[in-house]
Amino acid sequence: LSGKLGDVFERLRKRGALTESDVSEALREVRVALLEADVALPVVKTFIDGVKSRAVGQDVLRSVTPGQQVIKIVHDHLVEMLGGEAGAEDESGINLNAVPPVPVLMVGLQGSGKTTSTAKIALRLMNKERKKVLMASLDVYRPAAQEQLKILGEQNSIPVLPIVAGQMPVDIAKRALQAAKLGGYDVVMLDTAGRLHVDETLMLEVAAVRDAVQPHETLLVADSLTGQDAVNVAKSFNERVGVTGIVLTRVDGDGRGGAALSMRAVTGKPIKLIGVGEKVDALEPFHPQRIAQRILGMGDIVSLVEKAAETIEKEEAERLAARVQKGQFDLNDMASQLKQLRKMGGMSGVMNLLPGVGKVKQQMAAANVDESVLKRQEAIIGSMTKDERSNPKVIHASRKKRIAAGSGTSVQDVNKLLKQHLQMADMMKRMSKLGQKGFMRSMGA
Ligand code: GDP
Ligand code: MG
Repeated sequence: LSGKLGDVFERLRKRGALTESDVSEALREVRVALLEADVALPVVKTFIDGVKSRAVGQDVLRSVTPGQQVIKIVHDHLVEMLGGEAGAEDESGINLNAVPPVPVLMVGLQGSGKTTSTAKIALRLMNKERKKVLMASLDVYRPAAQEQLKILGEQNSIPVLPIVAGQMPVDIAKRALQAAKLGGYDVVMLDTAGRLHVDETLMLEVAAVRDAVQPHETLLVADSLTGQDAVNVAKSFNERVGVTGIVLTRVDGDGRGGAALSMRAVTGKPIKLIGVGEKVDALEPFHPQRIAQRILGMGDIVSLVEKAAETIEKEEAERLAARVQKGQFDLNDMASQLKQLRKMGGMSGVMNLLPGVGKVKQQMAAANVDESVLKRQEAIIGSMTKDERSNPKVIHASRKKRIAAGSGTSVQDVNKLLKQHLQMADMMKRMSKLGQKGFMRSMGA
């Protein structure tokens, strides 16, 4: 497949701008890759149309081949459709911005992983965010279902609402909320029953529970192996119950990643977490970049994406080099570098293959730069005024306090970042003496 794509792109090389037939030809291959990744048919169509309307007429950048440019457009559009680079708003991705106890409703088909995910999320909120969490099972139809949640709770020291035989889902939900209020809980996780297929009774019951507890989050739990059917499931639950986010399970068994795109495209709701195993700690934040890579990898397109990524790095390096030549490196430049680093973390698989980048990654590891640190640093810079960013010298004590408050960090963190910026600016100044060629070489470009 990459060979065929290569031919198409070879022919494109000679043109100045991307024409409709050029792009269509290239996108036929992308279409196959998406279908092989098990992306639902209507979503494939929407996606291809979106890329086409963006790509046609674009000037081919000087520094890249048209082929790389098309793949870069495909990749960027895919990441954007999967939720962009930003990712979840906090560690767990669950929005708990409400008066406690915050009800979180778990919905989905039977066997999708609702009960397991309920315990996984509860544990994550307890361990990572120090929340007090109560779980309750509203699955009164399968005899062992309530017991299953109870056992998961016992095994992992997560409080579970005591089972009262004969009580119906709406009443259990109300009782759970009441118990959580009395017990001073922060969150109540409500695990509901599912059916093998979307049906009227299921929807009516879930809607009744929703009306009774007014959940702050309604998470649709969906099996990533559902494939083409994922679209119907997501659509029904979103229309009938209204979901606020998606938990994709069994991602460990799915090398294709297509369901993520289908779910996201059909509901427009973020994929908040992914299940990657049966154990209670097998839950991870969703990274659009990684799934994009996986989806494109289906058709051997990933090698071309690598080149596109290299292009992004190169453009950025060139831009920076130009500024460095003038001896400039302000906090805006630092923010863009941090973002770049974070992106690289997200695309670690791809990035490992790039020359030069491996070195940066080793440095990152050595400096213990993980994603949350980068995010915090970006938040600090984000809380500065335009003036402060381009002229950090004006940031004195009272401004530091304001910036720390605005970014949810401490003055100490702000100081640390400013010091780091000084060191980087100093390094950039020294590099500018090497000239652009020397700088590009030192960046590995
Ligand atoms: P429910 O019917 O929606 O409540 O589904 P369960 O939570 O009972 O899960 C059904 C099965 O899927 C169980 O055997 C789980 O261990 C398994 N399961 C759930 N999530 C995952 C996951 O992310 N990966 C894997 N491999 N198995 C999972
Ligand atoms: Mg269950």
